[in-house]
Amino acid sequence: MHHFQYRDGYLFAEDVDITALADEIGTPFYVYSEATLRRHIRVFQKAFASSNALVAYAVKANSNLAVLKVLASEGAGADVVSGGELQRALKAGVAPEKIVFSGVAKTADEINAALDAGIYQLNVESEPELERIAQIAQARGIAAPIALRVNPDIAAGGHEKISTGKSEDKFGIAWSDARALYAKAGAMPGISVKGVDVHIGSQIADLAPFEAAFQKVTTLIADLRADGCAIERLDLGGGLGISYGEGEAPPHPDAYARMIRRVTEPLDVRLIFEPGRMIAGNAGILVSRVIYVKVGEKRRFLIIDAGMNDLMRPALYDAWHDIWPVANRDAPTTIYDVVGPVCESSDCFAKERTLPELRDGDLIAIMSAGAYGASQTSEYNSRPLIPEVLVSGDAHAIIRKRPSFDEMIAGEVTPAWLD
Ligand SMILES: *Cc1c(COP(=O)(O)O)cnc(C)c1O
Repeated sequence: MHHFQYRDGYLFAEDVDITALADEIGTPFYVYSEATLRRHIRVFQKAFASSNALVAYAVKANSNLAVLKVLASEGAGADVVSGGELQRALKAGVAPEKIVFSGVAKTADEINAALDAGIYQLNVESEPELERIAQIAQARGIAAPIALRVNPDIAAGGHEKISTGKSEDKFGIAWSDARALYAKAGAMPGISVKGVDVHIGSQIADLAPFEAAFQKVTTLIADLRADGCAIERLDLGGGLGISYGEGEAPPHPDAYARMIRRVTEPLDVRLIFEPGRMIAGNAGILVSRVIYVKVGEKRRFLIIDAGMNDLMRPALYDAWHDIWPVANRDAPTTIYDVVGPVCESSDCFAKERTLPELRDGDLIAIMSAGAYGASQTSEYNSRPLIPEVLVSGDAHAIIRKRPSFDEMIAGEVTPAWLD
C-alpha cells in the first residue's frame, strides 16, 4: 500500500505532480510520502496494540531527520546501530526510553553516549562487548540495561547478504554459548540483564523462519528463568519483507502478530520490534531522467542519471525494483537494460526489463526505494548526494538538499607542502 499513483497519465506522490517536482528540483532525487510512512507505522503498531509492545523503527533503513520526526510523532521508538543514528533519533525527538542500540560492535564512545542518554536497552552481540559495557557502566556507578542478541542458527532473508541468523553469520551470540554468557552477565555489577534479542535477517517473505527462530528463543527464555535469570523483555528484531513487485505477497503485520502472540503468549514479556524496511520501503521512490538511449549490439540500454551510488540495492543484493515511467505508460513496450552512468558494470538497475518506450529526457521512477536507498548513498565518481523530498498532501519540502560542488569538497584539505 502506498500513495504513488497516476492521474491523467502522470505519476503523482500523494497530490504532488512528479513531473513538476523534477522540473523544480532537478534529477535524480528521492520522494517520500508522509501519508504512507504514517500508514505503515500505524498498521504495525495496531497489530500489537493490545500488548504494550515497543515498536522501535530501525533507523538505518531511512535515517533522514524529517522521516524520523514523522515516525516519532506517531509514537515510534528507534533502533539505532551507531552513535550517529543515536544522535539522529534524539534530535528527531525520540524519547530515550524508546531507543534500543543494536549493532555488531559498539565502541566505548558509543556505549558512553548511550548511557549518557539513558536509552532503554543495549543489544549485546559478543562476550568482549558485554565486558566493555560492564566496565564502562561500573566505572560510572550504574548498571547498563542489556539484552543479549542470540543467533538461533536459522536461515532467512531475501539474499545471502541480508541473512543474519545463521551460525556462520557474524551476528549475535552463538546458541551454545548463550546460557553461560547470561549467567556471567547476571553476576556483573555494571550489567542489568533485561531481555533476549533476536534478529534473523531482512526481506523475509514468509512466517516460517520467524516462527522457528522465535520458538527456539522461548525455550531459551524458559532455560534462563530456570537458571534464575529474570527475563522481562523479548526483542524480536525486524526483517518483515515488503512487496517489491508483482507476485510478491509478504505476510501482513496482522498475520505476523498472530503468530507471535501464539508463540510468546505464555512468556509474559514486553515485546520489542525493530521494523525498518516494512515502514519506509514502499514510502519512497527514486526519480531519475533518461540521459541517453543507447542501442548496443545485443542490448538496448536506458542510461539514466541515477547511479549505483544513489541506490545500491540492485548492485549490492541483485535486488529487483519495479520501474515506472512518470508519463506515457501506455506507449508500446521495448526491452531495456536500465543502467546508471557510474563506471562499474554492477551499476545496473534492471536487466532485460520490458518498459513502455522511453526517450532521452523522459522521467522514470524506481519504486520501493524508501528503505536502504538514501541511507546507503555515497559520492562515488564525485557525484553529490541527491536530494530527498517529503510530500504531504499537496505540500512538499526538500528534506535534504543537493550539495554544491564546493559543499561536497568542503572537508578536503590540501597539505601546505602541495601548495
Ligand atoms: C537492519 C536491522 C533491522 C531492520 O531490518 P528490516 O529488514 O529493515 O526490518 C532491525 N534490527 C536489526 C538489529 C537490524 O540490523
